[in-house]
Amino acid sequence: MEDRAPDPTAPPVDQTDRFRDRIEAAAQRQMNKFRRAVRGVHPRRCPICDYYGKFTAFGHPPRFDARCPSCNALERHRLIRLFADRTGFFAADHAVLHFAPEAQIRPMIKGIVARYETSDLSERRPVTHRVNIEETGLPDAEYDRIVCNHVLEHVDDAKALAEMFRMLKPGGKALLSTPVCEGWAETYENPEITSREGRIVHFGQGDHVRFYGRDLRERIRAAGFVLSEFTAVEPDVLTYGLMRGETLFVAERPV
Ligand SMILES: [Zn+2]
Repeated sequence: MEDRAPDPTAPPVDQTDRFRDRIEAAAQRQMNKFRRAVRGVHPRRCPICDYYGKFTAFGHPPRFDARCPSCNALERHRLIRLFADRTGFFAADHAVLHFAPEAQIRPMIKGIVARYETSDLSERRPVTHRVNIEETGLPDAEYDRIVCNHVLEHVDDAKALAEMFRMLKPGGKALLSTPVCEGWAETYENPEITSREGRIVHFGQGDHVRFYGRDLRERIRAAGFVLSEFTAVEPDVLTYGLMRGETLFVAERPV
């Protein structure tokens, strides 16, 4: 085997860090088993697979009643299904582009629309387009619907929103969701926080670059969109195991 010269730009490897990572990975595996074993106290209905019964815990820290044990749908997937069913958001003649396509809602969308395309940067998923949402290179005014859940908090959102606006047909709509702290007037960003650990502490996940406040709405409108919202309220929260107040943002490119 050929000897490789050490990469002078690589950070030094700390054996203690490696040991700590192994311990953390083992703990995470145990936590996953624990979450699947913990059942909620109240039966729910899954609007995606029609399962009726107790849901299991999911998340870090675990959220009770989060995951449908039959189809793995989480709260936001169930909320999207309810929204789509009640508003007719997807129609048979639609062309749809789905970013970071969640397995839990892919079949539902694909089953309704005429043309269904996906995009993701991760090599692990087979997708139609392996493009960066900040600059996709895809055509103008091509899609009736764009689906983009839990992506904006990872990227340059001004660029991503402008790209989605450009790719939508006039009258087309983007379905957006992201963690929002409704108690904050302003989004928290800090470009000096670049390490994984720092981002977990500051923004809630190792690859998040901000935590949105209520001004997410202004950011969406700034790209030219007309905004409407669909929020999880009772009795749906109880019936379907949703997150209280979780909101889907619907951004329409005006005609
Ligand atoms: Zn289900």
